[in-house]
Amino acid sequence: MGWEKLVRFVTPYTPGEQPKEAGIVKLNTNENPYPPSPAVAKALAAFDADTLRRYSDPTAQDLVRAISKSYDVPEDQIFVGVGSDDVLAMAFQTFFNGEAPVLFPDITYSFYDVWADAFGIPYRQIPLEEDFSVDCGKYIGAEAGGIVLANPNAPTGLALPLDELERVVRAHQDCVVIIDEAYVDFGGQSALPLAMRYENVLVVQTTSKSRSFAGGRIGFAFGNKQLIKYLNDFKFSFNSYTMGSVSIAAGAALFSDEAYYRETAEKVIRTREAAKERLAELGFSFPDSKTNFIFAKHKNVPGAELFEKLKERKIFVRHFQGKRISDYLRITIGTEDEMERLFVALGEIL
Ligand code: PMP
Repeated sequence: MGWEKLVRFVTPYTPGEQPKEAGIVKLNTNENPYPPSPAVAKALAAFDADTLRRYSDPTAQDLVRAISKSYDVPEDQIFVGVGSDDVLAMAFQTFFNGEAPVLFPDITYSFYDVWADAFGIPYRQIPLEEDFSVDCGKYIGAEAGGIVLANPNAPTGLALPLDELERVVRAHQDCVVIIDEAYVDFGGQSALPLAMRYENVLVVQTTSKSRSFAGGRIGFAFGNKQLIKYLNDFKFSFNSYTMGSVSIAAGAALFSDEAYYRETAEKVIRTREAAKERLAELGFSFPDSKTNFIFAKHKNVPGAELFEKLKERKIFVRHFQGKRISDYLRITIGTEDEMERLFVALGEIL
């Protein structure tokens, strides 16, 4: 077709399956197995549908204010978007506009290279060490037009200490360092203090994991006032109304209840630690996860085979094709019951 020569061809990111059948155990997209705070249901019940006639507040002020209160960060240092995917995609376009390559690990959130390719951003993937850890030294000496580190990293689950990250930030004050903290509430150390201290640090978080709000689609970021202004300038040159009124209202309620999500995260952490023991007994090895998933490899059975056999038993986990990781399964931490079903199935298969 003649018009195809004008198409901007992209290779899309492949999200995990969202199967609709009943009775499945869904451990494939790192969702929280527990519902969001009851404050959300209350806010939704009280929501006046008539207000949907109007456009939503383009600044999402109620949501930003709730986040500001909850984290004790000034409102002008907070940016919100439609999930952290939206926040990260905007940050890539806003801050990575140079010639030098943006640096991130070879094994990390697989959306980073998809965005870089889609937006024409030069990048270089720095291989993780043999044990899947990040060697910050390899970033410190390198030429960079930006740096992106997921901390804890996905799909490995490993966390970096803050002083290591600070070394990277200090060595690269002439470019923006994005710290993607999608999983930080499950045992990582947040770089929020770095975002408050250094003008080149953007810390990105999400409500999708620890706050059980993946379907609500709210991501947020903290940074220097000027960084946040540039992000907003980009947003307002792209789509003023990214956040719908329903999301803003439910999200504001979500951030009003800190105790609930902390308790839920603790529950997930306890289940994860117990799961580590069970998996080790079954012959799996894995990096020491600080997230709501475990990236595990069996000593005899390949990842692809385990993935298929679990699926036959209606248990969905994630398997990635790819050098160094195709032997692994990424298993999201579910409820105690769901994990029990997983262990029974693994026992049968193995
Ligand atoms: N960063 C990382 C490391 C992730 O694993 C995910 C979840 N797929 C995201 C960001 C995006 O999550 P969301 O858009 O739901 O906030």
